[in-house]
Amino acid sequence: MGLADLHIHTIYSYDGTCSVPAVLKHVKTKTNLNVIAITDHDAIRGALEALELAPKYQLEVIPGCEVSSRDGHVLALFIQKPIPPHLSLKETVLRVGEQGGICIAAHPTAPGTSSLDFKDIWNALQDPDVRRILVGVESFNGGLVYTRQNPVVEKQSQSLPLAQVGNSDAHILRMIGQGATLFSGNTAQELRYALEAKTTSVYKGNGLNGINVMRDYLPHFFLRKFGWVTHNHHPQDPLRLERLSRVMSNQ
Ligand SMILES: [Zn+2]
Ligand SMILES: [Zn+2]
Repeated sequence: MGLADLHIHTIYSYDGTCSVPAVLKHVKTKTNLNVIAITDHDAIRGALEALELAPKYQLEVIPGCEVSSRDGHVLALFIQKPIPPHLSLKETVLRVGEQGGICIAAHPTAPGTSSLDFKDIWNALQDPDVRRILVGVESFNGGLVYTRQNPVVEKQSQSLPLAQVGNSDAHILRMIGQGATLFSGNTAQELRYALEAKTTSVYKGNGLNGINVMRDYLPHFFLRKFGWVTHNHHPQDPLRLERLSRVMSNQ
């Protein structure tokens, strides 16, 4: 079985604390993930950078984006161009389909962030074109305190005719893989087949607990506010703090 984390943020999200090479280095050296997707908020630049760097780190990367649809957050995978925010769920999904991509409903009903509710997902799925493209639901999101181990979300997700997906929604390195999806195979293409065939299952990590928040998230969040992020200059180098402006200007 392969393991994938399809919801990871980088410095191209306003709240991300690690550069793309830092994510790739961490995934390669500290996790057993076979496939990852970079999904910044309404931005695709980090995903394209990851796709370019992936061979250097010997990783399978899916280009993606977390789209702020009018109805809530949607993960768009296998896309090449940004998807405009603030469209309806249905319009967002169809735009992703035009690029040959697929969608996953991110953290349904999660409080404190813009989230789809199950009624919206059911309504959208009445359209056969949407059903072909919206193939999965995040029944476990490791990055949200309120939805961690939430049995209601998990149960409602299982009643949908969609692939069950676990993701980390990582904004710090330590969170990557704390929520993932098990699938038959180990490549991005095999993962896509498994999502479309609805044969995936959820791996639940520890989620965002108090220790993560105090030890990693808050310090890195404040460092980001002051212009510092975690970066990796070269695959063989150790991770280190670097000026955000310098990382951006080198891209
Ligand atoms: Zn979100
Ligand atoms: Zn997210």
